[in-house]
Amino acid sequence: MTANPAITPAMIERARERIREHVRVTPMVASASLTERMGVPVSLKLEHQQDTGSFKLRGATNAILKLDEGGRARGVVGASTGNHGRGLARAAARAGVRCVICMSSLVPANKVEGIRGEGAEVRIVGKSQDDAQVEVDRLVTEEGMTMIPPFDHADVITGQGTLGLEIHDQAPEIDTVLVQLSGGGLISGVALALKSRNPDIRVIGVSMERGAAMHASLAAGKPVLVEELPTLADSLGGGIGLDNRHTFDMVRSLVDEVVLVSEAEIAAGIRHAYFEERQVIEGSGAVSVAALLAGKVKPGGPAVALLSGGNIDTALHFRVLSGEDVDVAEE
Ligand SMILES: *Cc1c(COP(=O)(O)O)cnc(C)c1O
Repeated sequence: MTANPAITPAMIERARERIREHVRVTPMVASASLTERMGVPVSLKLEHQQDTGSFKLRGATNAILKLDEGGRARGVVGASTGNHGRGLARAAARAGVRCVICMSSLVPANKVEGIRGEGAEVRIVGKSQDDAQVEVDRLVTEEGMTMIPPFDHADVITGQGTLGLEIHDQAPEIDTVLVQLSGGGLISGVALALKSRNPDIRVIGVSMERGAAMHASLAAGKPVLVEELPTLADSLGGGIGLDNRHTFDMVRSLVDEVVLVSEAEIAAGIRHAYFEERQVIEGSGAVSVAALLAGKVKPGGPAVALLSGGNIDTALHFRVLSGEDVDVAEE
């Protein structure tokens, strides 16, 4: 195996300049209710207010703007129908680059329309994510398109890392930051950025109990497969890749602790965000607040909880808010 190109804080600073005109600087607000509960100042970073509803726009924009002329002319391709797909489609449309998102015929119509609405070409192939991936690979080898993966890619990681610089600028006195963790592109970039500014900042990763691939991999000392289970935190589903190149090592060396939250705790996080903070966030975005409310993280000083995404189905949001004991595994 060849050595990984080092991913450095300077690359994150350059990514920030590169994407500056293309992404929003999202607000940081004090949370009176969490401050009172936790006994330390707690702020919320409202990244669910980013264009497309999640931070994924940052990494996708950075990756696209780094393509050379030929790469831009041939376009980009992906297989995500979630937040990464949306971010990639929007970033490509803004840069005037062709974007094809491949998906199976089982993807619900509203998701297909969501991706199309961002200006991407949707290609429906086969009946599984694997079939869609075969088409992605074909477009890469036969048409020279560039695949932009959702997390394990230097330009994606450094793009997400711009969020860490922004957090530090808005809250320089922080002690602890809670960050969502799935494939680890987000937390790798954010932790590298924050620790380059102040190595004493504690970065806590939060995943759901149901199918926490990075947590299981850290425990095993190598990337492992976990069963993918239905969860309210659907944007945190999926593995980290058995051939993981960057994020496993970065999470292992940069993240201070990983905690897991239950479905009921995630639901409580969604409710708290709405009723106490007036924020509509998806389950994945709520795990940071959930970890605080559940007492699973006890910050020793000023803390920031990241709200990473807001794309929740309205009917599901309503059911959670109304206090229904939603179990997505039974649906
Ligand atoms: C993708 C995503 C995450 C997790 O990001 P990783 O880089 O895979 O760890 C967290 N929250 C939301 C809303 C997401 O879309």
